[in-house]
Amino acid sequence: MKLSRSEFIKLGILTAAGISGLPGMNLRAQDPSVQKAQKTVIVLGGGIAGLYAAYLLGKTGIKVKLVEATDRLGGRIKTVVDPSGNSLDLGAEWIQAEHRTAKSLIRELGLKTSDYEVQSDLFYGSYQKAGTWDISPNSQEILNKLIQMNAKINSSQQQELDRISFYNFSIYQGMTPEDLGILNFKYSLYYGDSLRSLSAQKVLSDLINFPKYNTRVEGGMESLVKALVFSLENTETIFADPVISVFQGEGKVTVTTASGKKLEASACISTLPANQLTSIQWDPGLDKEKKLSALRIRYSRIYKTFLMLREAPWTRENFSAYSDSAAGFIYDAGTKSNSEDKVLGMISTGDRYEVLSSSTDAMKVEYIRLALERLGQKKDLQVLRIQSTENIQSKYVPAGIATFPPGSYGSIISLLKPMDRIFFAGEHTAELNGTVEGALASAIRAVNQV
Ligand SMILES: Cc1cc2nc3c(=O)[nH]c(=O)nc-3n(C[C@H](O)[C@H](O)[C@H](O)COP(=O)(O)OP(=O)(O)OC[C@H]3O[C@@H](n4cnc5c(N)ncnc54)[C@H](O)[C@@H]3O)c2cc1C
Repeated sequence: MKLSRSEFIKLGILTAAGISGLPGMNLRAQDPSVQKAQKTVIVLGGGIAGLYAAYLLGKTGIKVKLVEATDRLGGRIKTVVDPSGNSLDLGAEWIQAEHRTAKSLIRELGLKTSDYEVQSDLFYGSYQKAGTWDISPNSQEILNKLIQMNAKINSSQQQELDRISFYNFSIYQGMTPEDLGILNFKYSLYYGDSLRSLSAQKVLSDLINFPKYNTRVEGGMESLVKALVFSLENTETIFADPVISVFQGEGKVTVTTASGKKLEASACISTLPANQLTSIQWDPGLDKEKKLSALRIRYSRIYKTFLMLREAPWTRENFSAYSDSAAGFIYDAGTKSNSEDKVLGMISTGDRYEVLSSSTDAMKVEYIRLALERLGQKKDLQVLRIQSTENIQSKYVPAGIATFPPGSYGSIISLLKPMDRIFFAGEHTAELNGTVEGALASAIRAVNQV
């Protein structure tokens, strides 16, 4: 059976059922004569990092066995297409147009992007329009100096700085609590956590190249996942079967899954989130530094809600606002300009995650209504449908990104250090961690090491 890419993408191909329902589409063991001489690599985890690693390996003729714990591929990327035609990204939504790896992959896979400029209003005690608020010039000058200082100091000084939280260090250096409150609005949307809980050294390093999310993939971020899956070669995918142990000896790696499957290969790339590394049995065991680093990482929490509305409650195009209400960040999340229905997105991070994840749909609507009221926007919301992010998160798929609390210095370096024939990737091992770009770049690095 031959399907065009667009037909293929329309199908639910990211699930085991979707793939097995396609006759002849065994992702995609090709010419048997080629296979004999093929080297085999096992890839752990079917998020964007694992898929990209499989894609790159498969293209060079290496045979890949991709093992995924859940019954779908994509991990922290999932798009739901609403009946109105709007794409709702329940996980990753934006990329930075200038980021090289994502940009060239998007082009290579024939996908399109559309600009998304975020210029947000602020309700922090009082209401301020987009473009009229920021931290004070004095705090900005202090922040710039701290970023430069962090780039210049040696590693033992960085290690000392890493023991302090960004919030406490910035207050000590003279920034005001009000300005840190504003920075917290801006940055916790990306971190999914408060600046109070993050290492000063890590945040100051991140601020040099802080991601500016200004682009979306047309059709939603899952289009990227689907296009990658469609382009996989020489790859066998095992779904809904978590890895439970990884054994390494006599020049080969043996991976055992919960169902008892034993897979053998000459090398393995693990893209499993850090919190999974410590729940798997490794033989030889994880070295102490890697284990401690995995335990130090704190996964943040990001809760997204989308309301499909009969009428837009905002008055300006590309509306978005930070608010000190339970809702957090609210924005015009529509992706289809000619859609009659409007989409209001809400992103709630950190402790707000608990509030939202334990709320009924009616309560979520109420939080949004209250946030809009504070912003002086129209209050009556005629809600047609509602979607929340929680249906992608599980024991295996984190609710946020890897964040680094005080005392995490050197964790990324330990986490990405290979263990003989086992190589490590995933957003938590990337320089630009917590992003799709970082996850993709980490896959390239691991594949080059194999
Ligand atoms: C709500 C939310 C919003 C985000 N927004 C953005 C954004 O706008 N822009 C951006 O760039 N980034 C964003 N991110 C971050 C981005 O989604 C991640 O950086 C990226 O998707 C991580 O990819 P990954 O492959 O490293 O990990 P994952 O996507 O977590 O993939 C890991 C895979 O491993 C599997 N797995 C786990 N344990 C096992 C096991 N024992 N055996 C087998 N498989 C296992 C999991 O099921 C999962 O499929 C967001 C994240 C979240 C949660």
